[in-house]
Amino acid sequence: MGLPTGGPALIGNSSSVASRLALVGLALASGAALAAAAASTPDPVVGTTAQLKLVEAPPIVDGLSAEQQAEIAAKVAALRARRAPAKAKALPRFPFFPQAGVQGRDLFLINFTDLDPAPTSIRDWDCSDYTYDGHRGHDSMIRSFREQAIGVPIFAVLPGVVAATHDGEPDTNVTFDPRARANFVAVEHDGYTTYYLHMKLGSVAVSEGQQVAAGTQLGLTGSSGISTGPHLHLETHEGNQWREPSAGPCRDGESWWAAQPPVDRDLRVADFYLAPTAPDLDDNESFLRDETPRTGTFVRGRRLVGIRADLRNVPADASYRIRVLDPRGRVVYEESGSYGTSELFKLSLFAGALELPLDTLGSWRAKIEIEGSELIDAPFRVVASAAQAKNRKPNRIAARMAPARPVAGEVMTCVADGSPIAEDPDYDLVSYRYEWRVDNRLVRLVTSAATSDLLPADAAPPGSRVSCRVTPSDGKAAGTPAVARAVAEL
Ligand SMILES: [Zn+2]
Repeated sequence: MGLPTGGPALIGNSSSVASRLALVGLALASGAALAAAAASTPDPVVGTTAQLKLVEAPPIVDGLSAEQQAEIAAKVAALRARRAPAKAKALPRFPFFPQAGVQGRDLFLINFTDLDPAPTSIRDWDCSDYTYDGHRGHDSMIRSFREQAIGVPIFAVLPGVVAATHDGEPDTNVTFDPRARANFVAVEHDGYTTYYLHMKLGSVAVSEGQQVAAGTQLGLTGSSGISTGPHLHLETHEGNQWREPSAGPCRDGESWWAAQPPVDRDLRVADFYLAPTAPDLDDNESFLRDETPRTGTFVRGRRLVGIRADLRNVPADASYRIRVLDPRGRVVYEESGSYGTSELFKLSLFAGALELPLDTLGSWRAKIEIEGSELIDAPFRVVASAAQAKNRKPNRIAARMAPARPVAGEVMTCVADGSPIAEDPDYDLVSYRYEWRVDNRLVRLVTSAATSDLLPADAAPPGSRVSCRVTPSDGKAAGTPAVARAVAEL
């Protein structure tokens, strides 16, 4: 590990500004927590800069216990026996991804099914390695247990009948325990079945035998059962056989998706915040809960500025540049180099703290480039006294309906567009309250951590006026609501 050194472009008394390395111990990415497994694993691969470290996070790994697999299969068989023989089986077409949020922004499809039967090798539908041995579904991560606590809804992807449910199990699992029981919902769609696994405790919102429309909320995202972090495992079956719904060079035939989600290999920022201290990453439990105090305000003087960026798909030996600019745009801190990592990190964390001479009042910026692109441009303010460090409400968002001209009888999506870096000027975690109205009647009200929400397919008759009002909140103050409107077309 390199010892701290002064940045090369410091203004003022640069020798004493030598930023201090805030130790990032064994760190786990938000939403990808694997504390117990980490205890038996060697130190994670780490790329070190003088002040901050890039740390690979343990992967999301999951499963369904043999007991629960048998339970679902038996209930699906019983349901099929009770119902009229299945109609001619048309291939299903999933019209949307059945989880609230936006893929690549606050949702990350990190694992697909493993199409390679050998126990020693893996292959996803796109002939790459976004899977792991024996995996039977699509894993879509949310950003943290804190988002899980607020709630990230899961929806029925097609209309159907609820075949099996289970609830009552603990939901913050971070280890692969083959006996752990999941909270789940399984829905039967005329010979096809979809499983939604690892739900949050107490969140299952439907009951066995219930008919559901596409887009009906089934439960909330969690980490119950065999699961190492909060995510949805979506598993699809044809008859009694699990299938990969996505088509590509390593999976022949038609896709089951109306708009197939790609394998996301792009470098992305999943989450970012500043903190008054170094993120406490030595303490796994604290880290998993992600309870480091966040801030966007520092009192004038020499201060420790904690930084945490949750990153996706950081290439091997990626280059970086960090700069901190004062209110006049002068570079007060700069450092660049390369992480020196030997492989792509699908999930990683870039975190630590800089000690900075914050001697100018006003609006500062911290900028982080990776591989030459500026991924993070994070504003913060410097004030004269702690009394001036008052909470600020979340930043403005815009609401839009997707599609812009929704069709009656189909699911409608309401998206809250805003900055993924600074959803809130104080870097507080933001929740979104979605109020859906059809012809002015409230039909769905939910507070979610996700930047989108769905209205079920049966909620808006042809010609009805649909509106979605989204209000962000940082838990202390509500931001300005944004409204999207549309008419449900025939
Ligand atoms: Zn899975």
